[in-house]
Amino acid sequence: MNYNKKSIEDIDVAGKRVLCRCDFNVPTKEGRITSDKRIVAAMPTIEYLVNKGAKVILCSHMGKPKGEWKPELSLKVVADRLSQLLGKEVIMASDVAGEDSKAKAAALKNGDVMLLENTRYIKGETKNDPELSKALADLADIFVNDAFGTAHRAHSSTAGVADYLPAVSGYLVQKEVSIMGKALANPERPFVAILGGAKVSDKLNVINNLLEKVDTLIIGGGMAYTFLAAQGYSVGKSLVDNEKLDYCKEMMAKAEAKGVKLLLPVDTAIAASFPSPIDAEIPVEYVDCTAIPADQMGLDIGPKACAEFAAAAKAAKTVVWNGPMGVFENPTLAKGTIAVAQALADSDAVTIVGGGDSAAACEQLGFANAITHISTGGGASLEFLEGLELPGIACLEDK
Ligand code: ADP
Ligand code: MG
Repeated sequence: MNYNKKSIEDIDVAGKRVLCRCDFNVPTKEGRITSDKRIVAAMPTIEYLVNKGAKVILCSHMGKPKGEWKPELSLKVVADRLSQLLGKEVIMASDVAGEDSKAKAAALKNGDVMLLENTRYIKGETKNDPELSKALADLADIFVNDAFGTAHRAHSSTAGVADYLPAVSGYLVQKEVSIMGKALANPERPFVAILGGAKVSDKLNVINNLLEKVDTLIIGGGMAYTFLAAQGYSVGKSLVDNEKLDYCKEMMAKAEAKGVKLLLPVDTAIAASFPSPIDAEIPVEYVDCTAIPADQMGLDIGPKACAEFAAAAKAAKTVVWNGPMGVFENPTLAKGTIAVAQALADSDAVTIVGGGDSAAACEQLGFANAITHISTGGGASLEFLEGLELPGIACLEDK
């Protein structure tokens, strides 16, 4: 995939109708927005378009209405918040690309901003239905994609619409693509990847792909125990994906053949059961990973692994991290995740964090500002790291 895509700065938007796909999929409770982070994050692109005198038509999905007009998933709350942030009225359409949207889009003056209804109110959206793509395109002269979180989906409003309009990236997508694209295409070395989290199977392809690129691959978190089991160690009641043992063996052989250093935790925090509730106080012990008792489970990496992983991360020039090192939601089991986050924060390397829980961990633990780039995409950032082509990015014009 070509990462060198045109952005809003590479196209003349003055006086043009610009359809801008944003990620306004904000959490709400009883009709109120509980975090406006994503709306705030979209402001630089919107303000640029407004200041350049574009006629701005925003769109997004929210939740999963699956083609039904669920009033609790209306974007009206977003329009209200946007109006406050912009200090001017954001015109709310009552449909997605229907009569009301058409009339309101036609009446826009330079610098006006309107918002369409939830794109997933229309069944065709997630099917990338050309009819919806065409209807969206008919509202505008230019398409801007500024929603990285949905860039791995080929939907009408994320990719299909670009079949009919010149398409460029907004600032958010541009940042994701330039930082992550550079890290992957031409990384400063040593290049270290750190993987963790709960499911090996979800991240299998990533491991395979990263082994082609990195100098060191660190595996911690719940994923590590499947690798340890594949090495023949008993891992007690730890999370193990028994169907992936052969795969893990293959990956270890591949790492060796490629000269990639594969680091697994040498020690681990163990407890008799998973904490419930997740942040409950829990007695833990630390043992070597070769000596996990049958009635115990590994819930975090141990102090020796923390030191080893942190040293490898600190020596790197590029680090990508996806997946916490342990059950970080529990203070006792957050030590491994904190150690890795601290190492990233302390290093001069380009540091990239992807994955919803990993991003949340960095924020909760107070490291977010010291990381080069925290991706806004969970699935999208993983697919990006896998080297897959993301439809919402591939559809944009090359520079
Ligand atoms: P991300 O969202 O960053 O991609 P995942 O969703 O794959 O990460 O995994 C995050 C979850 O993994 C966290 O909720 C964490 O509690 C859990 N986890 C980490 N280590 C373990 C472990 N050893 N055993 C069970 N769960 C774990
Ligand atoms: Mg997750």
